[in-house]
Amino acid sequence: MLWDNHMHSNFSGDSDASPIDMINTAKSKGLLGMTFTDHLDLDYPAEFGFFDLDIENYYPAQHKLAQENSDDSFTVLTGLEVGIQPHIVERCSQIVNDHPYDFIIGSTHLVDKYDPYFDGFWDRGETNTLLKRYYECILENITAFNDFDSLGHLDYIFRYVKNPELKKDTHQPYFEIVDAILSKIIALDKAIEVNTGGLRGNRLPNPNPSPSIIKRYHELGGKLITLGADAHTPKDIAFAFDIVPDLLKDCGFKEFVVYKNRKPEAYPL
Ligand SMILES: [Zn+2]
Ligand SMILES: [Zn+2]
Repeated sequence: MLWDNHMHSNFSGDSDASPIDMINTAKSKGLLGMTFTDHLDLDYPAEFGFFDLDIENYYPAQHKLAQENSDDSFTVLTGLEVGIQPHIVERCSQIVNDHPYDFIIGSTHLVDKYDPYFDGFWDRGETNTLLKRYYECILENITAFNDFDSLGHLDYIFRYVKNPELKKDTHQPYFEIVDAILSKIIALDKAIEVNTGGLRGNRLPNPNPSPSIIKRYHELGGKLITLGADAHTPKDIAFAFDIVPDLLKDCGFKEFVVYKNRKPEAYPL
């Protein structure tokens, strides 16, 4: 019995899903619960899209739905996925603390204000240099901002790498900087997320981050893992969650956590 802690509804600029459809589908998939984590991507470059969250209405609307649709067998929680950039961290902290959110994901979607989702990003330099810079940005972001609970989809940039060979190892070529990120996360007593979104459409052979990085987190003393499919439509809720328990057990974990009122609660895998 798992819990999907990462999903988007039509409060996110890149989703048309109605929140109640997400809830009903999550229930039908036999989950213990679900957590809405709509995008808060402040100062996202306008030429790439629109990611401003309707901050006034988001928490009240999702929290009302959560209360109406939670019972003894299924729980709905309300969170945010914060797209971190060093120059917006004060505003992010204000918003995160404006309402009693259950869960905050800290994600890095932009590398020096460019989104690797778009082809133009990869024209900006040599691929390995851009990949290393992505990891450096994550370290800079979590150094500037730590008002989050779980580090979202570490190594997610590899979803968009053009050369399939480079997707095979997201860890060893960047071992030192990945170690620095994981050590920082552990020192801050934060979780890392295992995100199955990259498996959709075969963009990656593994969840984010790759098992090698999850194992290293465990070796370094990391204990907290959250699960998320990063669904933007109801059908993608809990996508590929069937592979997650064995994968995490192979990496040394027996439990995953769900954040409620910003506090982790452990569940067996
Ligand atoms: Zn994300
Ligand atoms: Zn997301």
